[in-house]
Formats: sequence, C-alpha cells, structure tokens
Amino acid sequence: MRFDIVTIFPGFFESVFAQGIVRRAQAEGLVEIRMHDLRDFTHDRHRTVDDRPFGGGEGMVLKPEPLAEALTSLGVEPKASGAQARSAPQRVILLSAQGRVFTQAIARELAGLERVVLICGRYEGVDERINELYCDMELSIGDYVLSGGEPAAAVVVDAAMRLIPGVLGNEASGEFESFGAADAEIDVDVEGVPRSQHGAGGLLDYPHYTRPAEFGGLETPQVLMNGDHAQIRRWRREQQLKKTLRNRPELLERAALSAEDRRMLEALRDAKD
Ligand code: SAH
Repeated sequence: MRFDIVTIFPGFFESVFAQGIVRRAQAEGLVEIRMHDLRDFTHDRHRTVDDRPFGGGEGMVLKPEPLAEALTSLGVEPKASGAQARSAPQRVILLSAQGRVFTQAIARELAGLERVVLICGRYEGVDERINELYCDMELSIGDYVLSGGEPAAAVVVDAAMRLIPGVLGNEASGEFESFGAADAEIDVDVEGVPRSQHGAGGLLDYPHYTRPAEFGGLETPQVLMNGDHAQIRRWRREQQLKKTLRNRPELLERAALSAEDRRMLEALRDAKD
C-alpha cells in the first residue's frame, strides 16, 4: 500500500515514520510512504504557496495551483474528468478540522486500498476548490484545531498501515484490539488467556500490568496472578465496562453486550450511585 503526502513541511515526517512498526513495514515493502513538497510545484522566486483570502479576514490560504500541480504529478485528475482513475482503489483525502471524524472503521477501510493521497493544509486552510475538484473525503482527527495537517496525516497513516495484513507481528492483534472488527465474539469463545482487546465490542481496553508485582505501594490485582483464565477474562471484561462507564459512557449505547455484561454493568452503576 502506498501513501502520498502533499505538504509544505516534508521534514516533519522524517522521524515520525522512521520508528517502530511503521519503519519496519516500509523496510519489509508492505507500505510505501512518499512526501511531496508543495513548494516544488511553484514557479516564482519565493516559491509562494499561499495568498490572502478573498472576502478579507485573518491569515492566509493555500493557493490552488501548486496543489493541483502536485496532484497531477501523482496521477490524480479532477474528479469530473478522471472517472477512470477514480475507479482505482485509492482515496484522495484532505486533512481538515471540518472533516468527518477519523475512526478505526475508516482506518480499516483505508487499509484495504492500494493508495491514499493525503493533503496537509496550513494557515487558514486550503482553497475550497481543491476539495471540490480532487478530494474524495475530508478527514478530521478530532474536535480541535491543529496548526497544520501534518500531525493529522501522521495519525491517519499510522492507524491505517498497522491494519494492513502482515504489518503487525501478531496477525490477529489488529482485529482483537482497539475498536476491533472481531468485537462482540471476543469474550464469549476465546480459550486460554484473553488477549488485549482495547475497545473490543465498542468498549475501552482493560488495565495492563507487568513486573514488578508491587510498585509504588500498589499491588497487581490478585486475580491476574492465579492463572485462572476464566476468572481473568471475567475480571478484564468487568474492568472494560468500568472504564468505559467512567470515561466514555456514550460508547456503551453502541457496544455489543452479553447478558453477563449487562449484569456486571448494572452492578457497576449501582456501586457508583
Ligand atoms: N481555519 C480552519 C483551521 C485551519 S488549521 C478551521 O477553522 O477549520 C490549518 C490546517 O491544519 C487545516 O487546513 C488542516 O489541514 C489542518 N488541521 C487543523 N485541525 C485539524 C484536525 N482536527 N484534523 C485534521 N486536520 C486538521
């Protein structure tokens, strides 16, 4: 899978993509990430990429011409004229605080594509005609305003690339963890020690512990030390429910809950009152 990132700060990504799983995925040829410096597509002495907004107001706007030229160099045509190109498994995405909010479900969708082109805005944003002409989707990584699309692009690449088959050391782990696809069945039929299931079934992860058994005066919960897998599984599920109830109660409305989950949840709610 290939990511093309259009940016005025290609250097931003140097260390971001040179560590850990994303570095290994590139080294193994599973992912290719290319940065494209928007200033390479300007033709004036100052390599100007921005201009003042029509209608007045604060700040500057990324001009359409260099962006259009950068996209053309990547084989991306305007949507209307490029029906052929658009049928290819690729998406052109504008990072934008006004976009749909990025989720694990979107990450999964992107991981199944051959190519994703990411456009990083700066200043007040990008001339809207670039969005209209070239972009399949506007994506926001959350309800806050960044100074540029680069951190958002890094987030999207990271979350999507780790779901490409073969990228994670343990094939199944992407499926079972954060907001994973295997969701609902997880707690029911898993034999042996239950694995990390952050967000599984729409719930948040349970707490993790490692050695030493006692730290800072706090003991690791006893249930994790006795090797009783059924008990451990039950305790972890209860912790997931507890944390979700405390930090993200709205997730419970959409979560896949068993009768047992509902009983535990009732008890947790009663204990809270
Ligand atoms: N005027 C815009 C903010 C521009 S911030 C507004 O109020 O919506 C500059 C650039 O940072 C944007 O063009 C976008 O590419 C990026 N950006 C800012 N916040 C973002 C977010 N939450 N998600 C994704 N990209 C974001």
